[in-house]
Formats: sequence, C-alpha cells, structure tokens
Amino acid sequence: MNTPYLEIDLSKLHSNAKQLTAMFGSRGIDITGVTKSVLGDPEIAAALVSAGITSLGDSRIENIIRMKEAGVQAAFTLIRTPALSAACDVVTYVDVSFNTELSVIAELSEFAVRQKKVHDIVLMVEMGDLREGILREDINKIIGEALLMKGIRIIGLGTNLACFNGVKPTRRNMDDLSRLTESCERNHGIKLHLISGGNSANFDWAFADDSKGRINNVRLGEAIFLGRETLSRRHIKGLHLDAVSLIGEIIESKVKPSLPEGETGQDAFGNTPVFEDKGEMLRSIVALGKQDVCVSGLTPMIDVDILGSSSDHIVLDATRTPLKVGDQVRFSLDYAALLSSMTSPFVRSVYI
Ligand SMILES: *Cc1c(COP(=O)(O)O)cnc(C)c1O
Repeated sequence: MNTPYLEIDLSKLHSNAKQLTAMFGSRGIDITGVTKSVLGDPEIAAALVSAGITSLGDSRIENIIRMKEAGVQAAFTLIRTPALSAACDVVTYVDVSFNTELSVIAELSEFAVRQKKVHDIVLMVEMGDLREGILREDINKIIGEALLMKGIRIIGLGTNLACFNGVKPTRRNMDDLSRLTESCERNHGIKLHLISGGNSANFDWAFADDSKGRINNVRLGEAIFLGRETLSRRHIKGLHLDAVSLIGEIIESKVKPSLPEGETGQDAFGNTPVFEDKGEMLRSIVALGKQDVCVSGLTPMIDVDILGSSSDHIVLDATRTPLKVGDQVRFSLDYAALLSSMTSPFVRSVYI
C-alpha cells in the first residue's frame, strides 16, 4: 500500500461515539459530533450517525457541503460564527449556525427571507475563555434585536471553554449559563431548547455529581476520535485511543554519528538545533514531514525516538528497534497531528 496513510478504524470510532452517546445521555446531554478535525470525512461522519449521533457540527461550510453531498443524514451546525460573505451559503446549506454578531445575523435574515426559509441560530456567550462569544451583559439587547429579524429563530445558547485560554468548564460557569438561559427566557418570553455547554473539555463537569442545570448538549470531536477528555488528556475508560493512526515508510536507514559535522547555524525552519552526543546510532528516515503532519503531535508505536523533522523527513533514532528501507512505522496522533494529517493532500485515508 502506498504511504503515508491514515488508518481509520470505523468500528472503533463507532464504538467510541456509541459509548459517549450513552454516557452523556445518562446525564441528559445530547452530543453533536464535531467533524472539523477530520475534514468532514463522510465515511467517518456516517459511522458517528450510525452510532446514534443525529447532529453534526463543523467549523467549515465546505466540510458540511461535503458531508451533505455524500448523503450523510444529520442536522448540520456551523460551529464557527459565519463570515458576512458566507451568509448566503450558510442559509442554503446549514441547519443551525452559531452566532455572536448582529450584522451577521441581519445578513442571515436577509438571505433566509429571500430563500423563504427560517434559519436557526444559537447565540454563543462569552464565559471567560475569550475566544468567540457575546458578553453576558449584552445578551438581552442582542436577543431583543435578533427577535425583530425575519427568517431567524433563536433556538438556544452556547459557550466554548478550554480552547483558547484553557478555562475549565465548572459547576460555577455552567450554572451561570443555565441561569442566563432562564433570565433570557423570562425577559423575552421565549423558550431556548438547545443549551450547548462546551466540548470534550466538559467531560469532568458532566460526570461530577451535581445538577447539569439547563445544559443539554455538548459538541465532541477529540473525545470521539482520540478517546480522551481534553483538560488533562486523560483516557476516557472504555474508549479506543487508537481508532486513527498514521503510517509512514522508511526510505533510508544508516548508522551515523549523533553529532553533526561542521559549523552549525539555523535549520530549515529558523530554529537552532541542539545535539546530544550519543555516539553512533541507527538513523532511520520516514517519508513524512511537516507538509504531512504536525510532527510534534506524533508518538511512534514502536521503541524509537523522533530526533527531528523537516518538510518531508522525520529522522528516527532506531538503535533499539532496527528498521530497514521499506519498513512501515505506525504513529499515534494527538489533536494537532490528526487535524494536520487529515487536511494534508499528501496523506490518504484508509478505512478498516
Ligand atoms: C472544535 C470545536 C469543538 C469540538 O472540540 P473538541 O475538543 O474536539 O471536542 C466544539 N465547539 C467548538 C465551537 C469548536 O470550535
């Protein structure tokens, strides 16, 4: 088989999705499967849907179109607030969009009216992580104005934590969101059905022993694909950690010194390398590099060390596990490695 490729075990993904659906379901929380890290891969999306996930979220409209065109049957949510210039496409292709800006909602309203549709929106609230979100003191004013816009229906509130500044979802900020929901409902005489509390970082909060308040949805990507919660990257018991792995091929393997020869300056990426003299070592080169994957997110699944990488090469110290030309090396991935390899044109996906 040509390398490099991602080996995607659909039955393991299905199992992860099914278990998470049951676990969160026992807490009254539905899951939106987030497909942005897998480029909206329709085979993967279909595996999540067959596991009982009925709602899929993606940050890219292109990915949503890709899944829809492939016939994936789900409600599709755009989880990044739309660009003004994308409003027409959003109304055309997306069932629900997350929003924080009135000018964008106004544009969505205009296209919804033109297309004779009602476009559902969730308003994202800033709860401290300082990425996207409407300030809590502004939420009533924004709801008031959005309610006047034709073709727009506000179906809920959401928040996103632990992404930009690592702010933890806790009882305190989740209860704040529940209380905010109720005050918005009272102030405007509306019912908010979807209260989306966060992402894979909400795991500990979800399974702590207290009320989940009004929160009835989380958006999960990493927990499904990599089997971990994301505050401390703890393995979620019962989930597969190896549903996706990356395979590269050895193209050179030679015993060489561990110290370079000659004067040294910067490497190809402007870093100044540091070296340790370990004597002679077996240096094996994998035909994988920064164009294929975020190399710092790879962990070899055999006993070798990654010495470094450039655009097209990863150099391994294979002294403990001798490798020869043509051998394939399997790596496990973190989120950055998953995202980058799934979106690299050089890396194919193979499904098992
Ligand atoms: C990426 C993203 C998610 C999913 O995050 P994971 O850590 O993969 O679970 C959820 N919500 C928003 C708004 C996102 O951008």
